[in-house]
Amino acid sequence: MKNGLPDAIDVVEAKTSKIDAVDFENLVFGNVFTDHMMICDYVNGEWQNPVIKPYGPIELEPSAKVFHYGQAIFEGMKAFKDDQDQVWLFRPEDNFNRFNKSSVRLAIPEFPKEFFFEGLETLLNLDRDWIKKGFGNSLYIRPFVIATESGVSASPSKSYKFMIICSPAKAYYSGEVRVVFAEKFSRAADGGVGYAKAAGNYGAQFYPTNLAKEEGYQQIVWTDANTHEYLEEAGTMNIFFRVGDKLLTAPTSDRILDGVTRKSVITLAEEHGIPVEVRRVKVQEIVEAAEKGELKEIFGAGTAATINPVKGFGHQGKKFELPELEDSYATFFKKELMNIQYNKSEDKYGWRYLVKN
Ligand SMILES: *Cc1c(COP(=O)(O)O)cnc(C)c1O
Repeated sequence: MKNGLPDAIDVVEAKTSKIDAVDFENLVFGNVFTDHMMICDYVNGEWQNPVIKPYGPIELEPSAKVFHYGQAIFEGMKAFKDDQDQVWLFRPEDNFNRFNKSSVRLAIPEFPKEFFFEGLETLLNLDRDWIKKGFGNSLYIRPFVIATESGVSASPSKSYKFMIICSPAKAYYSGEVRVVFAEKFSRAADGGVGYAKAAGNYGAQFYPTNLAKEEGYQQIVWTDANTHEYLEEAGTMNIFFRVGDKLLTAPTSDRILDGVTRKSVITLAEEHGIPVEVRRVKVQEIVEAAEKGELKEIFGAGTAATINPVKGFGHQGKKFELPELEDSYATFFKKELMNIQYNKSEDKYGWRYLVKN
């Protein structure tokens, strides 16, 4: 390694491709992985040269710290192919910056930017055929880092493994989504790790989400841990409420993840004259708006689904249904975002990032 740049990324190509065995029309989100993956190890206080090799299992000691203390963080991003076969990322620097922000919070050494982008672009070019053209098709990219040092003492690991794996995705349709506003459990607390994509944040949501599912809700909208009076975000999505023509969303904080999709929606709303208020949103005001028929929409915003409309919500045992709208904000923002992502509209804000071939 010289001046923080990799000497060369060591590439071991797969002897055969698995691509012909994949049914691209019937993909289940996150179940199939491409031919290659990127690996970079942190040892002796330094990130070593990245390696790209065939996707496959890795070996770890059972005592590796990640299994015991959850020192692990991840990111989620997507690559899109346009009609000219060019491959694009959407605001990837934001994902990279957030990756290191999450790492710092978990006492994981920050990952070098050159390694991230050189490795990712090399990987995407090797697995380029896995990125299908057409609106809704994409390649979901999952960079992550885990603590690999052997030993069960509760202290930060001295070695880590950074990896990127990729999974082809179809337009994400999760079925009808109804949410429940959290009244008992919490996702994040002041001073905690809510703003980080820390693995444990997600594992801790499965149990309360299972309970919500038994009541007929697919997801929980988390509320502030102290009072449960303010709406914060969903499990992997930031959340927007449309009251009349006004859009409301909570400000980011150390409890709320600073979503790339969320901030893109806010920018687009401002551009298109849609009034948007970034402020604390009271459970009570949303319930009252629903009772008065003023609550027009709730939608989630996140990389996996882009925009995910919500059909209804529950609060204190009461169920509310949302109206079926002809021209919803959810549809509008989804289309605007996808037009930018698939290189079909002007890129006013410099959000697109071309993956050099
Ligand atoms: C990833 C994530 C989001 C969405 O972030 P994007 O950058 O838009 O994908 C929102 N909330 C949580 C908790 C998340 O993990």
